Amino acid sequence: MNVILKNLQAVRASIAQITKAAGRAPEAVRLLAVSKTRPAEDVLTAALEGGQREFGENYAQEGVEKMEAVARHLPPGHPPLVWHFIGPLQANKTRIVAEHFDWLHSVERLKIAARLSAQRPAHLPPLQVCVQVNVSGEASKSGCAPEEALELCRAVVALPRLGLRGLMAIPAPEADFLAQRKPFARLRALMETLRGAGLALDTVSAGMSHDLAAAIHEGATLVRVGTAIFGERTNA
Ligand SMILES: *Cc1c(COP(=O)(O)O)cnc(C)c1O
Repeated sequence: MNVILKNLQAVRASIAQITKAAGRAPEAVRLLAVSKTRPAEDVLTAALEGGQREFGENYAQEGVEKMEAVARHLPPGHPPLVWHFIGPLQANKTRIVAEHFDWLHSVERLKIAARLSAQRPAHLPPLQVCVQVNVSGEASKSGCAPEEALELCRAVVALPRLGLRGLMAIPAPEADFLAQRKPFARLRALMETLRGAGLALDTVSAGMSHDLAAAIHEGATLVRVGTAIFGERTNA
């Protein structure tokens, strides 16, 4: 069997097993296949033969070229793929993301969110977004501070062409399971605070190849997995 398909099966099995061990419902965790730096053929393999629907990209231009190449090869009637932008987003790339992606996980400033809302085409549904939070303190530079999350979320909710879905985090790498759980536990506590403040959030975007289990145990609803599906990246 193709290695991508074998990996995809193994990752799904592992998510199912961890989700069960964590006492959560089988459908509680969604898999986002992170296809950054991979060719369109790999996405097509995962989609057509592996039934994978959701893909994540980090670079706007690369992502758009890939989704167009992939779309040309999907057979008529194939359910549309869902494309998530998960990388840091500069102001000069917001239009590409607003016009082509379904989701964006890395909102960390209101200015960028406001641009995305203004640039989201009227014929598309609102761009689904997560606010990225820095739950690792000084060990990480990306994401808003946890104390700023409520204010930023409230401002994002007020933007007409964005749909706020939840929070995203990329904790600093830790080898030990318990150490990995700590930042995800902070993320979970913050989710509860925001919900308590009246925000309707359903998404915790957390966990990558190396810290999947820790994230699922702390309530991740969407895991972003690249290496464990597509193999080691060589060019980025
Ligand atoms: C690359 C990337 C991933 C996937 O990481 P792997 O370790 O390859 O699973 C997940 N999230 C973000 C934001 C990424 O940039």
